[in-house]
Amino acid sequence: MKAAICYEQGKPLVVEDGVICDPPGKGEVKIKVVATAVCRSDLHFIGGLFPSHGPGVAGHETSGYVEEIGEGVTRVEPGDAVCVIAGTVGCGMCPSCIAGHRMMCMNRSRPVPHQHTKDGKDLSPLAGPVAGFAEYTTVAEYQLVKLPEDMPVDVAAVISCAVITGFGAVLTAGVKLFESVAVLGTGAVGLNAIQGSAYCGAHPVVAVDTQDQRLAAAKQFGATTTINPKKVDDIVAAVREATGGNGADYVFVTVTVSDDEVLRQAVEMSSRQGVIVRIAVGGGMGPPDPNAPPPDIEWARGLAQMGASRRVMFTMMGSSNIIVDIPRYVSLYKAGRLKLDELINARYPLDQINEAIEYMSSGKALRTLVMMQ
Ligand SMILES: [Zn+2]
Ligand SMILES: [Zn+2]
Repeated sequence: MKAAICYEQGKPLVVEDGVICDPPGKGEVKIKVVATAVCRSDLHFIGGLFPSHGPGVAGHETSGYVEEIGEGVTRVEPGDAVCVIAGTVGCGMCPSCIAGHRMMCMNRSRPVPHQHTKDGKDLSPLAGPVAGFAEYTTVAEYQLVKLPEDMPVDVAAVISCAVITGFGAVLTAGVKLFESVAVLGTGAVGLNAIQGSAYCGAHPVVAVDTQDQRLAAAKQFGATTTINPKKVDDIVAAVREATGGNGADYVFVTVTVSDDEVLRQAVEMSSRQGVIVRIAVGGGMGPPDPNAPPPDIEWARGLAQMGASRRVMFTMMGSSNIIVDIPRYVSLYKAGRLKLDELINARYPLDQINEAIEYMSSGKALRTLVMMQ
């Protein structure tokens, strides 16, 4: 079988045949991959922003069909269409799971197994335990959510990360009718934070991005106001003005590797009772650098402003409960109330994955699908 292998970070992927996919062990399922979208987190590993150890296979926004099930698997059977999630569905038994926080399952210490080998050498899964840039992959049963037969399987791939991360963060933050929202960064995750906010009845919904064409997409997904920070003197003042002078009740930060300056702005553009939700993957993926300068915590002073009661929260894949949430998203899509097709700008065959990555890196794409079948 073929897979796109990252031999060296910062270099193009190498699509090679002769890759061996592990058969499913106990509690595991072999998937015939249909589509894997290119997510920014993949680019961070492929490009070298985040560390990797040896050659590997990225891709985690994946959908496909169950090819084979391992011992003890009960929730899916061969032929089922599934979303494959990089996070965990959760064991369902530990205190975190029982409290409804399945992404925070306390029993997820299981080491991430490799799924693929080439010429006897292990290929590490990059950007999550999926290794979806391959024709087949083997994952844990708890990473799967079954799809109904009438759901287009390739389209469902974008639910596996972009939707649960963006829309999920809105649900986790608890956005309500008429509360105001600002979304910083309108890639696929930001657009889902926008469509989630609009769905929850937020108003206004302010989209902030440096690319006008993505702001046009933001309007399509429910933004009521769009602001390009390059075209205003003061982005904080512009967002405050767009939210009636009060600041946004929720500021979703989806900007890649959000730095202290972005967080400071997010605090300053939030209302006094505002919630700042950091969605994007931040730094800190590697071991701490002993020579790094002390963090600039100036932005945090805004939190301590007299008379304010702001909160900062972080979400991991929207802190979604995917067994509950993914069927809901599928049902919304089928009812015409969730935009998924509009997120997908292009489809590339596996052999052209580097073109897909280039298109994604250009900032023009919302999501590109790499088609395995
Ligand atoms: Zn992702
Ligand atoms: Zn658990």
